[in-house]
Amino acid sequence: MVIGRFAPSPTGPLHAGSLVAALASWLDARAAGGRWLVRIEDVDPPREMKGAAELILQQLDRCGLRPDEPPLYQSTRGDHYQAALDRLVEQGWAYPCGCSRSDVAAALTARGEAIARPVGELVYPNTCRGGLGGKPARSFRLRVAPTPGPTSGPACDPVPVAWHDRRLGPQCQDVAAFVGDFVLRRADGFWAYQLAVVVDDAAQGITDVVRGEDLADNTARQIFLQRRLGLATPRYLHTPLVRNPDGSKLSKQTGAAAVDLADPLAALRSAGARLGIDVPGTTLAEWLERATAAWRVQWLAPMA
Ligand code: GLU
Repeated sequence: MVIGRFAPSPTGPLHAGSLVAALASWLDARAAGGRWLVRIEDVDPPREMKGAAELILQQLDRCGLRPDEPPLYQSTRGDHYQAALDRLVEQGWAYPCGCSRSDVAAALTARGEAIARPVGELVYPNTCRGGLGGKPARSFRLRVAPTPGPTSGPACDPVPVAWHDRRLGPQCQDVAAFVGDFVLRRADGFWAYQLAVVVDDAAQGITDVVRGEDLADNTARQIFLQRRLGLATPRYLHTPLVRNPDGSKLSKQTGAAAVDLADPLAALRSAGARLGIDVPGTTLAEWLERATAAWRVQWLAPMA
């Protein structure tokens, strides 16, 4: 049984770009006769907008995209994330880190490495892998290494993670080179997206992750973490992004316009067009039924 999901962060209302991901995941599950779930990823309060979760659920409902179960709120799932982190720490795969962002930048500079990315996105030089060196613990990180952890840990698989995207084709990322040991619990005490998404995709039995292409480069980290936790890897499909006229990504943070609730059919039609779907229909139900019949992943040509 196919189980798909749409997993918005409540940082703002649905916009034309997030509706494409929502519609694609809905169509993909419905076309396979499967189930479709909605998960509200409210684990990052500093970035959230009050009322956005309710607004997103209302927008989905107005578009006829109704989940088969009540939405799951990640803010209620802390015990599960903690249990996963505890297991990783016990097995030697996760460790406490005392580095601030400026410590990371300083360590890289001391090694003669150029700081070419924003400090929040630097490749972690694995400073605290061997211990905190007297610093207080701030965050927890996952050891991303081809070397085995403690003898009780599982054998380590290679750090480059190869995976297949249903639209983009074969993908490979060297997680160690791309991000290094990545954060599972943040210095501000909130859970990192990577851990929450992996634990919940498994808990909800998700077989098919369908989401925007901007998230594709997280997938290798998520697969790496699934392997550490002994969890199954779902299939992945990353959908085309909707861009602003200047080519930048449409996003809630840059103030993309909310999907117009007054004309949900028009909103669905333009989301459908981005997915290569152009079907007639005068009601939502009729359009959605035809779009489901027309859903073909192979229509989604990879972007240049
Ligand atoms: N919550 C993420 C976002 O809104 C999406 C997570 C996912 O689909 O894996 O960007």
